[in-house]
Amino acid sequence: MKYQVLAGKLSKIEVTSKRTEMTNHLVELFKATPPDHIRDVIGLIRGSPYPDYEDFQYGMAEKMVIKSIANATGLTTNQIVEKMKEKGDLGKAAEEELAIKKQTTLFTKLLDVKYMSETLDKIGRTSGKGSVDTKIKLLAGLLTNASPLEARYIIRTILGQMRLGMADMTIMDALAIAYTDNATNRPIIERAFNISSDLGLIAERLVKEGIESVKDFKVTIRHPIRMMMAQRSGEKEEIFAKLKGTFIAEFKYDGERLQIHKDGETVLIFSRRLEEISEQYPDVCEMVRAQIRANNAIIEGEVVAYNVETGELRPFQELMHRRRKYGIKKTMKAIPVNLFLFDLLYLDNKDFTNKNYPLRRKALEKIVNETEQLRLAVQKEITSEDELEEFFESAVEKGCEGIMAKSIQEESIYQAGARGWLWIKFKRDYKSEVADTIDAVVIGAYVGYGARTGFYGSLLMACYDPIENQFKSVCRMGSGFTDEHLETLQKLLDQYRVSKKPPRVIIKNSTVPDIWIKPTIVLEVQAAELTLSPVHTCALDMIRKGSGLAMRFPRFTGRIRDDKTAEQATSQQEIIDLFKGQLKKIE
Ligand code: ATP
Repeated sequence: MKYQVLAGKLSKIEVTSKRTEMTNHLVELFKATPPDHIRDVIGLIRGSPYPDYEDFQYGMAEKMVIKSIANATGLTTNQIVEKMKEKGDLGKAAEEELAIKKQTTLFTKLLDVKYMSETLDKIGRTSGKGSVDTKIKLLAGLLTNASPLEARYIIRTILGQMRLGMADMTIMDALAIAYTDNATNRPIIERAFNISSDLGLIAERLVKEGIESVKDFKVTIRHPIRMMMAQRSGEKEEIFAKLKGTFIAEFKYDGERLQIHKDGETVLIFSRRLEEISEQYPDVCEMVRAQIRANNAIIEGEVVAYNVETGELRPFQELMHRRRKYGIKKTMKAIPVNLFLFDLLYLDNKDFTNKNYPLRRKALEKIVNETEQLRLAVQKEITSEDELEEFFESAVEKGCEGIMAKSIQEESIYQAGARGWLWIKFKRDYKSEVADTIDAVVIGAYVGYGARTGFYGSLLMACYDPIENQFKSVCRMGSGFTDEHLETLQKLLDQYRVSKKPPRVIIKNSTVPDIWIKPTIVLEVQAAELTLSPVHTCALDMIRKGSGLAMRFPRFTGRIRDDKTAEQATSQQEIIDLFKGQLKKIE
């Protein structure tokens, strides 16, 4: 299949923000794709030949890409930089320069998607001495044979700037329609994605073996499972009602969630974002190797920093010092950790995700040798509000954030990738202010004055709407920042500055920021309350015509949620639920 066909569709998808139109373009594309090419096509749409959990990067900075364009067009790098400034995008700059050059060249070979994937793979895998030149040559080779439109998307792929505004859910909708003629089969594809995180593999299975085979998709060791999430509640009665009177409560540890895959002596650790982070936690790998009695297993737990002398748990912020690639041995000593295990998803080649929670926990207990550093999450069966209150107090006293209430009913399976009522979090914050902190995405910044001259003065924050795949503004936040925060955030956000409004960002004219930020960084925000707002676009028209929802007196808690992607930020629906919960309290 020619890459040209794909680039043509991408250019149509890029200019629409309507999900149904995007889906239709994708359906046409998939119908034109030969079965042996579907995996490559999915990779090229998503921007990488590999699923997200593979730590694969092209390793080409903008400067190198400019050199490749110079090689392919015969222009100087300065000329290309000028064009980039004019167009505001290197992809468009390359497209235009190539269009001029192509008028004078006759011989180019048509790029096909297999060749494209292989070359992108080569670019990513080239490393070591001389690799800069090799990468530049490989990319220049692609560009020499590319049509102008193809060049636009090749450059954006390499720079990780596809800008299509398309969610995986839309790709799944299109796969269901293209290959089963029935959009209602999407949940089957979604489940397979939730337990494997590899859309290319699922698409190939669907095309070659049909939807029945996708239904049989099994958990595979070393393929991360999308994590199950919890609903929140501040009402004890609601927890009892949702969990049918009796449930298990567990300490809610305040650390980092890990999904651990033990396969023989190999231990792989995946983060909440499903990135492989085994290298950050050699001590956890060692504990698991030594203390988990299983040939292979997938287990989940929370890793928490602790004080060796007193045994006390330390706040989440301390664990952040472990977020690094170098000098791990030193930080490992300075910040020792405990691991609290709370789930088992796979054991000795058997999928446990469809088993109920009591069975999973029992199986987990059987394979863990508890030590001082490696323990099972503390839990208790709860049948009355007094027991719940007492357990909650003991959790807080031990340095936990609150508790997790978990269903023990027959239906209490591990719901990969879903935020359902089988797990309910009940936290200390619920007793004050808005019933929970909100994880909001930075989408813009306003310049600072007075003491903040030279820094950002305030930030425009958004929630995520997974249905429209859009980021909608929910507040302008200017408090809670220490000088240290201001400096850290400035450095961090500067990496994501863009010249125009990112396509997935939806705001009103009255909130246009001085600087646009690509939705990437998630910050934890506490607010006094949620209010109807004429200026913010979260839940616009959903509660009252012409109004959205906004956070009032938003304050940065100091916590950068770098364990979350922008799409894992608090959703529009969660904010609506919090708003309704607030009304209930007033009533
Ligand atoms: P929060 O912001 O409240 O941490 P979140 O959005 O990161 O929530 P949720 O799934 O909503 O994630 O809340 C559950 C989180 O609590 C888990 O992701 C996990 O990191 C942590 N956690 C701590 N202890 C437990 C436990 N015993 N069982 C399940 N999750 C736990």
